[in-house]
Amino acid sequence: MKIYTNDNNTATLKLLIAANLAGKKIELKKATFEGPKALPLLEVDDQLSFFSSNAAVQYLFPVLDLSQNGQCQQMQEWEATRLQPTTAAVLMSKSVASDLKQAMNSLLLMVDGLLKKHKYIIGDKLSAADISIWSTLYPLCHNKDYQKQYLAECPNIMRWADELGSAKAIQEAVQQWGGSVQGPFAPTSALGIPQFTNMVSPVGTPESQEISVTTEEIEAAKENWINGVKNLQEPLKKQDVILPVKGRRNVLITSALPYVNNVPHLGNIIGCVLSADIFARYCRLCDYNSLFICGTDEYGTATETKALEEGVTPREICDKYHTIHEAVYRWFDIGFDYFGRTSTPEQTEIAQKMFLKLMDNGFISKQSVDQQFCERCQRFLADRFVEGTCPHAGCGYEDARGDQCDACGRLVNAADLVRPRCKLCAAPPALRASEQMFLELGQLEPALRAWAAGAAGAAGAAGGWSGPARAASRAWLREALRARAVTRDLRWGVPVPLPACRDKVFYVWFDAPIGYLSITQCATGQYEKWWKKNKDYDVKLYQFMAKDNVPFHVVMFPATVIGVNEGHLLVDHVFATEYLNYEDGKFSKSRGVGVFGTDAQETGIPSDVWRFYLTSIRPETSDSSFSWAELGTRNNSELLNNLGNFCHRSLSFCANTFKGVLPDAQLAAADYELFALVNREVAGFVQHMEKGRLREALRCVLSVSRLGNQHMQSSQPWVLLRGDEQDKARGATAVCVCCQLVALLAALLAPFVPRAAARLRDQLRLTPDQLRINPEKPSLIQYLPPGHVIGKPEPLFAKLEPEMLEKLKAKYAGTQSERAKKQNGASKGAAPASAAELEAAVAAQADKVRQIKSSTKDKAVVQPAVDKLLALKKQLAAAQAQGARGAQGAPTGANDVASLEKAIAEQGEKVRQLKASTKDKSVWQPEVNILLALKKQLADAQAQPEAAQSAASVASVASLEKSIAEQGEKVRQLKASTKDKSVWQPEVNVLLDLKKQLAALQVKQ
Ligand SMILES: [Zn+2]
Ligand SMILES: [Zn+2]
Repeated sequence: MKIYTNDNNTATLKLLIAANLAGKKIELKKATFEGPKALPLLEVDDQLSFFSSNAAVQYLFPVLDLSQNGQCQQMQEWEATRLQPTTAAVLMSKSVASDLKQAMNSLLLMVDGLLKKHKYIIGDKLSAADISIWSTLYPLCHNKDYQKQYLAECPNIMRWADELGSAKAIQEAVQQWGGSVQGPFAPTSALGIPQFTNMVSPVGTPESQEISVTTEEIEAAKENWINGVKNLQEPLKKQDVILPVKGRRNVLITSALPYVNNVPHLGNIIGCVLSADIFARYCRLCDYNSLFICGTDEYGTATETKALEEGVTPREICDKYHTIHEAVYRWFDIGFDYFGRTSTPEQTEIAQKMFLKLMDNGFISKQSVDQQFCERCQRFLADRFVEGTCPHAGCGYEDARGDQCDACGRLVNAADLVRPRCKLCAAPPALRASEQMFLELGQLEPALRAWAAGAAGAAGAAGGWSGPARAASRAWLREALRARAVTRDLRWGVPVPLPACRDKVFYVWFDAPIGYLSITQCATGQYEKWWKKNKDYDVKLYQFMAKDNVPFHVVMFPATVIGVNEGHLLVDHVFATEYLNYEDGKFSKSRGVGVFGTDAQETGIPSDVWRFYLTSIRPETSDSSFSWAELGTRNNSELLNNLGNFCHRSLSFCANTFKGVLPDAQLAAADYELFALVNREVAGFVQHMEKGRLREALRCVLSVSRLGNQHMQSSQPWVLLRGDEQDKARGATAVCVCCQLVALLAALLAPFVPRAAARLRDQLRLTPDQLRINPEKPSLIQYLPPGHVIGKPEPLFAKLEPEMLEKLKAKYAGTQSERAKKQNGASKGAAPASAAELEAAVAAQADKVRQIKSSTKDKAVVQPAVDKLLALKKQLAAAQAQGARGAQGAPTGANDVASLEKAIAEQGEKVRQLKASTKDKSVWQPEVNILLALKKQLADAQAQPEAAQSAASVASVASLEKSIAEQGEKVRQLKASTKDKSVWQPEVNVLLDLKKQLAALQVKQ
């Protein structure tokens, strides 16, 4: 095992201690932030590495007593989010500000309080939490100056620190670490000193009961408990066409328009559509009148290039990828009010109108630009359409593009290419002047600056623009703005409505943001109602995007709007995110690195879990990293142990002890104190949501559940309910309170995990209207009326096994093309791989069955899904048995082939029926995928025995030839029926494999 670290990083100490206690040998390697964004990095082997030092500690030094696992993770989370950043800020600041000092002291007092009660952080056993906290506090405890300043009132910390410090294993680790308590200390993240503002949020304190609540808070909690339901505003009337409503809060929500020529990856999803969706669901929870729109951005050279590559028209490319995007987002439960596209007549009309207005108002100029022109094709060539030899010294790659060289990765200027050629016809192009229209950003600059200062500043105080949004806007406005071309010599785009510009279209940066308007037009038919100021009502515009998209939303498009000067809305809230990295690198669409929307579906992990995990690592203040291991930890500790466990336990008490009838509560002072603490979290949830800090809002929800668990644990209804009358009444009260908290959670969870929240709502037998929150008075209210009867409690979440995540991590390592190669090359050992696929299919189907069961009792609906689940389980068992036999080198029995053939026939029938019943591809595509997987298995199963038999007989050649003929026919039919490569490519791969096997056999003979 290796640890990569910088000098004097206390987080590295954690790892060394944990490894030493676990008896594992560690090699220490020096590293800088050139590579990883966080240090230390623990590399177990080439498959498994950890970025989060606490996750690494848990891996090295697992909690032996599983009953304390939740507590330990909770402490570690607190350590990672509160103690470590605060300590780092203290150690790395030249002079420590008084509020920072205060924060440090209160955290230390808390640790001291824990150690006053117990020998170690959690009870009397050493746990991973001790290792993490001890390491973080190491400099404070061992540097005399810090000791005096911070630990004078913490005798218990000192006792504990000394005791641990005298252990041999820890002393050895400290020696290997070799750091100095005098500093300077190294940051754990490439971003340096953590931002202090992140740490003062009121949530996440592990021992929240110890915080006292004020009388005002208790009075408010009482008032809201009694009158909260009455104080909810009238539910908004459903509109067929969503338009702004007078007297209500009107919220227009946009998600950056995804570019059409690719499948979105997880980074794109959390950066835009998922974030916007969570916010939109929050708005519905608060009963704001909201419209949430998005769509594919379809014009531009990239589409034309892709179309050229695939030999189809740009329109066909757009149709194909628009469908893929829509299916991916539907799977992630992105609840757009409308998901449109930019290649519509509405787009043309609005973009042309705005351009002509800009021209009327004098903000459009004409300039001549030199551009590559192909005589033979009679067209100007976009940079990507020019190819040639890379001009960079030492590269000389012959197929460099006019914008970038794929060999050396450097940017290229089309005019600099050596021996340039037209991508379409290979003739050498020549430079030719072309007249283009320019938007005079310079003239618009004063108005733009005035607006930006006001919008970012004024709304900024109310959290209008997120940090990354403000930073990008400042960077752009630092220098004077220059005129920017709004037209190009291309075909695929919105035509420029001028006689002199017949062969030109708008540059996509100019017309893409207009897509928001045209998509609203497609959704409502009256886009101006939303997009133009109206004296009767107010509309607030919220825009979600990743940081690279900010300039278009805070500079370019506002400049257009200001120049048009017709009272269009300017953005109020820009919620931009930083980047999400994949494990130890970057997500990359062009290189196919990372997990893509379609991959996520195939893993068998429910969409709610993806949504939850992506939100919990949302890159709100800095870049963050996706990790399979962390996905498992978060699911198992937070969704399952914290949330799921609390909800299921509470409702089970009500169902089992009270026949599902909510018991009466006789509330005592302690209950209102609990409500007051809960209400702080609900208030935090609303505040964070309103400012687009979704990750923080989610933490508040988890805190509510944590408070619920603590309440359950301390009131022990299972004991009380067996006691005397008075005890029984207290037990009943505890159950009632817990069930009301579950109802609150069903409301608060709805934006993040809509499916689980809906299931919970059904179990509670409540309607969405009954589960709203009041953003004016965010608090726990009596969601469940007295005497309410709940439904049957069911578990909400399932455990994710580390082995399965390891498999997935290995499966999605490398680039997409490497994966495809691996899959094809491994077809001989395909049995285990297909078993894994089947496992995923079983998990997905089980989830589907649960969802169907929770939504209906109709057996006619439920039974087919159950049947399919059983069939899949049978196949899985067969595949696993086959895998085991394969490993022993025994020939595969004919049974597997027969049962696979039967399964294929059944699945084929199901697909035919589904396709006949609906055109909705998202409904039948998953079933088609299962069918294809089965077919591939069958082909493997059929091909395998022949290939494996050492004395290949003539018969096997014949049977291979037969298989090839059949498979060839299948491929021909598929290709004739669809252009969708994703459908026929797997079959082609099977065919190629068969041919390879045949060739090998023939050579042998
Ligand atoms: Zn090059
Ligand atoms: Zn040409």
